[in-house]
Amino acid sequence: MEGTTEPHLVLVPWLGGISHIIPMTDIGCLIASHGAPVTIITTPANAPLVQSRVDRATPHGAAVAVTAIPFPTSEAGLPEGCERLDLLQSPAEVPRFFGANKQFGKAVARYYRRGAAMPRRPSCIVAGTCHTWALGLARDLGVPCYIFHGFGAFALLCIEYLYKHRPHEAVASVDELFDIPVLSPFECRVSRRQLPPHFSASTSMGGGTMQEMREFDMAVDGVVVNSLEELEHGSTAHLAAAIGKKVLAVGPVSLCHSPNLDLQAMSDDARQYMAWLDGKETKSVVYVSFGSAGRLPPAQLMQLGMALVSCPWPVLWVVRGADSLPNDFKEWLRENTDADNVADSKCLVARGWAPQVAILAHPAVGGFLTHCGWGSTLEAIAAGMPMATWPLFAEQFINERLIVDVLGVGVSVGVTKPTENILTASKTDDRKAEAEVGMEQVMKALERLMDQGVGGEARRRKARELKAKAEGALEKGGSSYINLEKLIQPLV
Ligand code: UDP
Repeated sequence: MEGTTEPHLVLVPWLGGISHIIPMTDIGCLIASHGAPVTIITTPANAPLVQSRVDRATPHGAAVAVTAIPFPTSEAGLPEGCERLDLLQSPAEVPRFFGANKQFGKAVARYYRRGAAMPRRPSCIVAGTCHTWALGLARDLGVPCYIFHGFGAFALLCIEYLYKHRPHEAVASVDELFDIPVLSPFECRVSRRQLPPHFSASTSMGGGTMQEMREFDMAVDGVVVNSLEELEHGSTAHLAAAIGKKVLAVGPVSLCHSPNLDLQAMSDDARQYMAWLDGKETKSVVYVSFGSAGRLPPAQLMQLGMALVSCPWPVLWVVRGADSLPNDFKEWLRENTDADNVADSKCLVARGWAPQVAILAHPAVGGFLTHCGWGSTLEAIAAGMPMATWPLFAEQFINERLIVDVLGVGVSVGVTKPTENILTASKTDDRKAEAEVGMEQVMKALERLMDQGVGGEARRRKARELKAKAEGALEKGGSSYINLEKLIQPLV
């Protein structure tokens, strides 16, 4: 880039959860691999996670600086260290968290307005989804502001359609299915209760926050998506046309690391999960995970667990929050699954952080029961892995339609109702919630997922084709490679 101004991109991942921080850090590493220096702004409690991913992206990681700016937890009445939404304990804390995030935004702005002592000037800001304050900072600095939602382009297209055409307001009940007709000839039939929180009458965020986020969405200069143009049947182009902005698909960003690099940085627990997989036959294992924060109510977890221990395949099951489960369920887990890594165990429960990208790339894994979080969905696609879909909340029911109906790489478990979470502000005690999906229903989905017949083979073939496209997208001249250039070049 001799003779030109070297662009400097500042990325500020949303503090919603680890699943927002992971892909934005990876985007930072990808931008750096195109020769542009990057700063990732985060908070002290999240900085080690960002730094460790950056360190693994060597040699490009060297061009990524990680800056920690304090997050005002105690001033906002939040417990110390509560620097991510997924660490909150009750819906009542959610508005306080958003208040603290505004103050965090002011602190970031002060950091960039220090006159002569100012750190390297940004030439572009890429803001995580709820950092609405980033727009004012970008405008003050006279630089473009992009948003990274963490959703795929199809989901964003559906959300745009819902905002503009409001089909959900014409249905008689929360369970009546209606179509979001954005990707003809495919249908996207969902119910009102399955929609993301943008369209819910009450969330613990409050309507004001949702409105502010919508205004931010509409005001930014462009959208960065963790996807590839070839994947979502033209959704990126349709989205760009619908919102009148640039939409740059730069993924799958998980491919910026080799799964083997992840192996080197793994915890002892994670290494044991990998060793357990090493002892299993090719494509024989079902991997089960509900993401970084997804927790099923105990009664539902029990139905799932009974299916997993009695199905004919070995299972690697990630259980989040296992320590806070009711004692009788903990007892059941102890008796029926193997948490001690016995090599021939049938159902291994992973209580720690599972190295998901490496697991999905392991030859022993033959199917993924997923909550359809977009990060997991794209990681599965990058690994050529068929899925069984069990959406929990957010935009996951829309992702399920993409996986099953549009891409043809998944089978639906058949969940109709979302699982409560901290944003849905319910007064009901989730621990008492009944199971919607029984053991038999889970078993049927697993049988279809692991099916060796025509249907199963068709899904595996499509998954392999998508994997090849995903790999090509980030290679020199591939669509995501070109989109990274389109992000950087106008700043030169
Ligand atoms: N993840 C992981 N190990 C775990 C749980 C989650 O590596 O034990 C990662 C997963 O690979 C993905 C992210 O966490 O990158 C989850 O993101 P997703 O969008 O699928 O779901 P969310 O956590 O937002 O519900």
